[in-house]
Amino acid sequence: MQAPNVIGGVRLPDGRGEAIRLARGASLSDFAEKIGADAAALVQALFNLGEMVTATASVSDETLMLLGDEMNYKVQVVSPEDEDRELLQSFDLQFGEDEGGEDDLAKRPPVVTVMGHVDHGKTRLLDTIRKANVGSGEAGGITQGIGAYQVKVDVEGDERTITFLDTPGHEAFTAMRARGAKSTDIAVLVVAADDGVMPQTVEAINHAKAADVPIVVAVNKIDKPGASPDKIRGQLTEYGLVPEEYGGDTIFVDISAKMGTNIDDLLASICLTADAELDLVANPEMDAQGVAIEAHLDRGRGPVATVIVQRGTLRVGDSIVAGDAYGRVRRMVDEYGRDVEEAGPSRPVQVQGLNGVPGAGDNLLVVEDDRIARQIANQRNARRRNAMAARSRKRVSLEDLDAVLKEHSNLNLILKGDNAGSVEALEEALLKIEMDDEVQLNIIDRGVGAVTQTNVSLAAASDAVIIAFNVRAEGKATEEANAEGVDVRYYTVIYRAIEEVEAALKGMLKPIYEERVIGHAEIRALFKASSIGLIAGCMVEDGKVRRNATVRITRDGNVVAENAKIESLRREKDDVTEVTAGYECGMVLSYPDISVDDKIEVYEMVEVPRES
Ligand code: GDP
Repeated sequence: MQAPNVIGGVRLPDGRGEAIRLARGASLSDFAEKIGADAAALVQALFNLGEMVTATASVSDETLMLLGDEMNYKVQVVSPEDEDRELLQSFDLQFGEDEGGEDDLAKRPPVVTVMGHVDHGKTRLLDTIRKANVGSGEAGGITQGIGAYQVKVDVEGDERTITFLDTPGHEAFTAMRARGAKSTDIAVLVVAADDGVMPQTVEAINHAKAADVPIVVAVNKIDKPGASPDKIRGQLTEYGLVPEEYGGDTIFVDISAKMGTNIDDLLASICLTADAELDLVANPEMDAQGVAIEAHLDRGRGPVATVIVQRGTLRVGDSIVAGDAYGRVRRMVDEYGRDVEEAGPSRPVQVQGLNGVPGAGDNLLVVEDDRIARQIANQRNARRRNAMAARSRKRVSLEDLDAVLKEHSNLNLILKGDNAGSVEALEEALLKIEMDDEVQLNIIDRGVGAVTQTNVSLAAASDAVIIAFNVRAEGKATEEANAEGVDVRYYTVIYRAIEEVEAALKGMLKPIYEERVIGHAEIRALFKASSIGLIAGCMVEDGKVRRNATVRITRDGNVVAENAKIESLRREKDDVTEVTAGYECGMVLSYPDISVDDKIEVYEMVEVPRES
């Protein structure tokens, strides 16, 4: 027989070189389940290797590999993107690659996100650019907040196009990136000249850098009396954004979003940065691929999704799959509300015809026929459910599952909102609420659109609260919620929702108990009484002893029993509730194995207030 595989005293299975695949972010429980082992053994083994994690916590790729090595398994960590790639490959599809060779590639416009600190003028800038473009083109202007728009600008005699994502801030940017979507080519960093570099400015820089997206700096509000554009240049240099005029390679443009000053300059600088740092090309002739940036359920039109085409050309009539929604493009509308028949690279269009609402950052692919679209969507759907189940399982954490589960406080939530972006933002913000390990926040479902009866039944089945953001209940949902006692809460402001959830969590926190010693006694003699068992004749040395109190028994300094109870207490022949220091008494303890000279420490658990 082969020698058992022992790590730091823990016996573990020996994989004998077997290969196993684990999803990124798997826990030791997941690992254990895969190899038919005991999760506790893996926790212990890892502890002995110097890493302390709980069985249900997500661990890093390295930890999975380390543990795999120790047990002689070849661990392969599969990211969700890899999984999706494999799924598409099984249909002979590939996302993210231009078909053909160099000759098939054509220049495409940059896709731009505006980022920066709150109140520095991101929204105003997007407004100004949108309006400035009215003069140069469409009568009526960009009317349809579809989540993105294109503008034209003259750069050294060439008419160039830029695509702007119409949601400012890096929340959306990061949410999309978290899903592996690269939706942005260039970031415009707005910094108010009368304010300076602020926390979200730095955050935006970090996000853009992490995504390897070049930055154009718009120094805004130069119309204001206190404006000091030079100060901004100096400050940003510290973050590695060195202005061209100081020998760096970042373009700074001084603008006023309010007065419309230098907006064309800014647009031209975006094109110049694209030319200098990026090679933005795509094959316009293939089946379209793109990314969904915004999606919601429209009363009349059903699910609508704004997509930025990344390569290929999207046409009315195409069979498409976007995230786990599928369908056929029934109609496409641009930012002017006009119908369009086709959309090429970098073009944003609002697409109708999907059977569901994709998430922001989900990829969109044109496939051969509806059947393939449906199969891909269904498989993604199944996978998402599994991942979600795994995730909600994970939130209920901690070593001793049995004991913990019984006492665990869970707040289950279902989120509904008017569009994918707000639901995502809400989810992200809620998951950021700081909690200690005792309370768990589970978002068990989320979606776009009104609160439905299905939502209510799910909430009833899992004791969840429904958070409705900018949406109401439809049909019989309210009636059912009342009947089932489901709490549906309506909000129009995200931070109100967050505040209330936070308060609810605080309210749910279990009290903290602290041990308080109330006295000590020593066993001087033992008596057997046939009717009640062994009586300990004790001397109360300090404090007091009390009937029904909890005691710890120590012998020669070692604890022999915790949590024992004083079952009866007598002084002389009388039953008493309490005996104070300096008196003798007789006790019957719930712990039978006592002897003379044992010390008895009497303690109570008292509730202490939480620091809030
Ligand atoms: P956001 O939070 O970054 O989207 O900031 P907003 O676009 O909402 O702008 C915040 C405030 O600054 C609003 O009151 C704007 O009108 C104002 N603002 C934006 N740009 C300028 C500007 O160039 N000059 C002046 N004076 N005010 C501006």
